[in-house]
Amino acid sequence: MTFERVAVLIDDEETGWLGIATAESVTAVACASADRIADLLGGVSEGAILLGVATDPATLHAQLGPDTAIWPEETEPASVLLARIDPDTLAAETDAYCASHPGTAPAAALARLMAQALYSLQERGELVDLMTPVAGATSQVLGAGHEIAIRSALPATQAPPHLRDDCFAMPQGVAWVPVDEALDRLRGALSPVTETVTCRTAEAGGRVLASAPIARRSNPPMPNSAVDGYGFAHAATGDGPQRLPLLAGRAAAGQPYDGQVPEGAAIRILTGAILPKGVDTVVLEEDTATDGAAVVFDGPVKPGANTRAAGEDVAQGTPPLTEGHRLRAPDLALLSALGIAEVAVHRRLRVGVLSTGDEIVPDPGLKALPHQIWDANRPMLLNLAKAWGYVPVDLGHVRDDAQAIEARLNEGAAGADVILTSGGASAGDEDHVSALLASQGVLSSWRIALKPGRPLALAMWQGTPVFGLPGNPVAALVCSLIFAAPALSLMSGAGWTKPTGFRVPAAFSKSKKPGRREYLRARLTPDGSAEVFRSEGSGRISGLSWATGLVELPDGAVDVRPGTPVRYLPYASFGI
Ligand code: AMP
Ligand code: MG
Repeated sequence: MTFERVAVLIDDEETGWLGIATAESVTAVACASADRIADLLGGVSEGAILLGVATDPATLHAQLGPDTAIWPEETEPASVLLARIDPDTLAAETDAYCASHPGTAPAAALARLMAQALYSLQERGELVDLMTPVAGATSQVLGAGHEIAIRSALPATQAPPHLRDDCFAMPQGVAWVPVDEALDRLRGALSPVTETVTCRTAEAGGRVLASAPIARRSNPPMPNSAVDGYGFAHAATGDGPQRLPLLAGRAAAGQPYDGQVPEGAAIRILTGAILPKGVDTVVLEEDTATDGAAVVFDGPVKPGANTRAAGEDVAQGTPPLTEGHRLRAPDLALLSALGIAEVAVHRRLRVGVLSTGDEIVPDPGLKALPHQIWDANRPMLLNLAKAWGYVPVDLGHVRDDAQAIEARLNEGAAGADVILTSGGASAGDEDHVSALLASQGVLSSWRIALKPGRPLALAMWQGTPVFGLPGNPVAALVCSLIFAAPALSLMSGAGWTKPTGFRVPAAFSKSKKPGRREYLRARLTPDGSAEVFRSEGSGRISGLSWATGLVELPDGAVDVRPGTPVRYLPYASFGI
């Protein structure tokens, strides 16, 4: 069944509109009455199809003559087919048409679009499909249940954005902030938490020094022996075999020898023992022989050999570490050795972590429906904060609801020094975080030329910096390591940090276009080259665990082949 044209009648309060589509044209004509409709159609009734809506098909049937069938009641083939359609099918298309064609009556637009869609369907021989009732649809309405087919039949009227296989391609005319510039801006905008507290040295691991501690004593406090052996005055020794009579007694760590060692004599001395008076040099036990009365060794021996001078490591009254230093286990050894029992440290940075998204189920212990996913970012970000020595503040999860996000950000601003949110940071319909930050906070920078990483929102909320991280866990981690790690370090008082990377040969190939920096999930092979995860898809969370670090590809274009040196940044260089 094919027709030369498709006509669609749409009634509205003022006038009816008849849309007519043929192979050559599509028009919409105002028609106030059924007579006029019959008139319009009558001239070329042959092969026409009319799909009336509010108008009773029987009225038109009477006017159009006997070679007319009303679908679905009449099944005989006829030159004119009358059927009812559902005008709501193209409601969205009608709105869009009216928006781009100001002054067009909605009924006229609808008549035109419907005629056009149905004409192209019947051209393709698919009109008959619309007549096949779909289970549950109204069988009195042509196309019921086939709404998407009807909507899809409209030709593309707008040029779609130029699609590239790379979904991270830069939209034209948008200013992208290079990573280094974003980092510089961030660095300039933040300042450390100012409150300081006193902390016992043994408990100060991970804390940041608020002032330089001062050595109470030198290390070592007194000159002592570096080895087990025999101590003597160097002046009495010379070249060749030496024989020095042994004094009774010995000098051991914690058991000093109180007497004087005469020049030409020697005394047994153990590691860590203070050099007795008269001793300035020690010979290593393994280099000697003794019969109990004297010690024998080969000269010459260097003056001061195997001894440690007082204060040679750290002098009393000097600062062994500087303000802003983040204390690690070895530092606790140093401070303790110098008699520093307490240190002034910055109050620990409180890092709020908030997840957003209608699809997110906050805890993997809870049931998730098929359209829901468990919150992967919050445990990751809270743990990052903890690993970096900060106080993680769990701000929980909120749905994509501006008011709920706002309330939680207020809570975060009150109880945390910095807030990390994930999800909703882009510029889409459901990106409430960035919308809110833009309208009520101070959104300082976003659209950073980084992959994976778009989108990242950096903003101030009631004076509290907010990192609007991407929802994607891969992008969320990369942005955290690249932006949040140095920024939080600065805020904690420990100063801006840069990851320590090193150049290794690539074990992969990749051609990278210029314009943004890229971080690939990577790990070192046994021979020390960097291999990358099999997929760059940023939804592949498993790649984060597979990796032991990131390969950083510079902003410009690069062509990596196996063996090309690339910069590898181990996770450890980010403190994780
Ligand atoms: P969005 O940034 O909100 O557009 O989210 C990007 C992607 O990340 C979507 O596929 C989200 O479902 C996903 N996503 C957002 N938040 C989380 C989260 N907390 N844990 C795991 N995936 C998430
Ligand atoms: Mg979202």
